[in-house]
Amino acid sequence: MRLLVVEDEPDLLAGLARALRKQGYAVDTAADGEEGLYKAKANDYDAIVLDVMLPCLDGWEVLIRLRAAKATPVLMLTARDCSADRVRGLDTGADDYLVKPFDTPELFARLRVLIRRGAGQPRATLDIGEVHINTAARAVTRAGQPVTLTAHQYALLEYLALHRGEVVTRTALYEHLGDENEGTLSNVLDVHVLRLRKKLGQDFILTRRGHGYCIE
Ligand code: CA
Repeated sequence: MRLLVVEDEPDLLAGLARALRKQGYAVDTAADGEEGLYKAKANDYDAIVLDVMLPCLDGWEVLIRLRAAKATPVLMLTARDCSADRVRGLDTGADDYLVKPFDTPELFARLRVLIRRGAGQPRATLDIGEVHINTAARAVTRAGQPVTLTAHQYALLEYLALHRGEVVTRTALYEHLGDENEGTLSNVLDVHVLRLRKKLGQDFILTRRGHGYCIE
């Protein structure tokens, strides 16, 4: 899953990006509203974390202009618990909000919900044959036995599973699993797929020649 974080406080931005990458997300960053809007329109993110107080364009303006173009899930960070801000955010098309200062685990949990909803999967667990994926715990079992996956393998599996029944193109996988600083995914994607098949079954991920990969 690929996220955009728009935040002008450098320490918070760097800390959030680091924490989210540790969770296995690909993370792009923007330090002001203009850059944030540009990236939000140019790339297809699974969710956006958007601070309200930003230089150039504030978070409200970014959200309004983004919503004129696309429906990417947006979580707003508001400075204080002001109900007028919340109402305005939800009216403007924000999908959720969090009041600063916030707990990172809560941010993670809310993002997971937004990403699932964005993919049309309201439930936190996915059952595909004998494979069980718990997206809240980021845990996978096969026939009841825990399966150990690297962060990249998990991210790939979750993306394909959330888009179950669809053929996911390699381009889409590069876009959603790699961030703006990472150009190497194309070399390792096949390796990740190979390893996932070894762990979850040879037929678990199907190759659609010339198109991409699919979990049925
Ligand atoms: Ca700010």
